[in-house]
Amino acid sequence: METTLRGVGVSHGVAIGEVRHMGTAVLEPPAKQIAAEDAEREQGRARQAVDAVAADLMARGNLAGGEAQAVLEAQAMMAQDPELMADVDRRIAVGSTAERAVYDAFAAYRELLAGAGEYLAGRVADLDDVRNRIVARLLGVPMPGVPDSDQPYVLVARDLAPADTALLDPSLVLGFVTEEGGPTSHSAILARALGVPAVVALPGAGELAEGTVVAVDGSSGDVFVNPSEERKARLEAAAAERKAALAASSGPGATADGHQVPLLANVGGPADVPAALEAGAEGVGLFRTEFLFLDDSENAPSEDKQVEAYRQVLEAFPEGRVVVRVLDAGADKPLDFLTPADEPNPALGVRGLRTLLDHPEILRTQLTALARAAEGLPVHLEVMAPMVADRRDAKAFADACRAAGLRAKFGAMVEIPSAALRARSILQEVEFLSLGTNDLAQYTFAADRQVGAVSRLQDPWQPALLDLVALSAESARAEGKSCGVCGEAASDPLLACVLTGLGVTSLSMGAASLPYVRATLAKYTLAQCERAAAAARAADSAEEARAAAQAVLSGE
Ligand code: PEP
Ligand code: MG
Repeated sequence: METTLRGVGVSHGVAIGEVRHMGTAVLEPPAKQIAAEDAEREQGRARQAVDAVAADLMARGNLAGGEAQAVLEAQAMMAQDPELMADVDRRIAVGSTAERAVYDAFAAYRELLAGAGEYLAGRVADLDDVRNRIVARLLGVPMPGVPDSDQPYVLVARDLAPADTALLDPSLVLGFVTEEGGPTSHSAILARALGVPAVVALPGAGELAEGTVVAVDGSSGDVFVNPSEERKARLEAAAAERKAALAASSGPGATADGHQVPLLANVGGPADVPAALEAGAEGVGLFRTEFLFLDDSENAPSEDKQVEAYRQVLEAFPEGRVVVRVLDAGADKPLDFLTPADEPNPALGVRGLRTLLDHPEILRTQLTALARAAEGLPVHLEVMAPMVADRRDAKAFADACRAAGLRAKFGAMVEIPSAALRARSILQEVEFLSLGTNDLAQYTFAADRQVGAVSRLQDPWQPALLDLVALSAESARAEGKSCGVCGEAASDPLLACVLTGLGVTSLSMGAASLPYVRATLAKYTLAQCERAAAAARAADSAEEARAAAQAVLSGE
């Protein structure tokens, strides 16, 4: 029978498919004693699980080829290491269950590796992954990490972090459903980047049984469990109709009376460029470079590797604007080798520009790589820093850019309320502002963007957030400089009109949202957008602000 669950729709479209859960970290198996006569059976179970995991790793290696194959084959060999297996057998013989014996034997081996020099210590994460896989198989729970499936599926998770999703095969993911997260969580951002429908903050998502068919409506936030044939047909027809209407829109972003608002794309690397070009992006408004840093938990990517990735993105927009954000590590994007492990409040700790000022060599390498990548290209390169709090931060960043010989415009993201409140002072040091409304909402409302329970406060329609946007845009105008939005607020078509009315000079979003924003903006004049913005700011809640703007724009 069909049932309906309601969450927050954060990426448009409809996905219909089977649920596959993102496996969570494997729990420690209980230290139960088994009877002596069960030992042989447990040893057999352990061997079977080890062999199956090794075979699976080899098979995936064959499929992947290249460097990944070598890594996966080495992991398969680890799983079958004879000494490790002998230790597992010994532990079972003295009363451990198979899962507990595997868990303890790997822990002992892990300690040995961790203390055995840098190279072997670097293999600890691989060893943990092998252990988790074997224990998960023995416990009959989903494998940790992204599902092993060759059929398309709807990915269900508690929340998704960039590191979890690095291994995701986008061609298999029909949509996302998460229990936690708000409209600005990384699950939402990633879904928009992939152009797949997503619903976040869905209570009960974790209890959806593996393999259940769901229909996800990323616009309304509804998730239909076991949808009827009629429901599926209705959802599919509505999605197709909307897609056709959008395909008809093209050209640069502008209001109905020709006020230009460049529409730019948010990208995580070269892989996102084709979709941005296809959507008609006029450039890149946010290149989240941290995705380059997620491949290796121990080291930063080399300067050469960075040059290659930056150049690929810059070359794709020969005459356009490309705004590159320097590494934004920490909080929801921790990097083992940079982020302090023991912060009580990571979102309020050393993250973004603060991390880079503590590790100037990382910033220097990144800026030098950018300067090399842009050499000889006609592109308009702009470089900005995340989490700028005040003028001193802005100056430190601009000084670092100059010291690296970078020929680009330097800018500051406005993600902390202090930066919006003192935007004019920050603009004495940099040439443009870019509003990161995701973090700006988080810090304005003291509402963690990863916590579903406070997603109401993450709503970018909150009038207090609109006030800070207006203040930043007015400050930039007074200084004769530009102020764009690159947070998720820009991807909401109606809100994009309001942002334009507030004086924002460009809008940057995931490529999939771009046609929706272009089509909506083209329907209204700048004066209408300004009236909608004033009505939204006069409201007392996000819901009222949205309704007020809608009423102005639809002429009610
Ligand atoms: C933001 O905070 O709005 C932003 C664009 O940065 P990120 O989402 O990567 O933190
Ligand atoms: Mg941010």
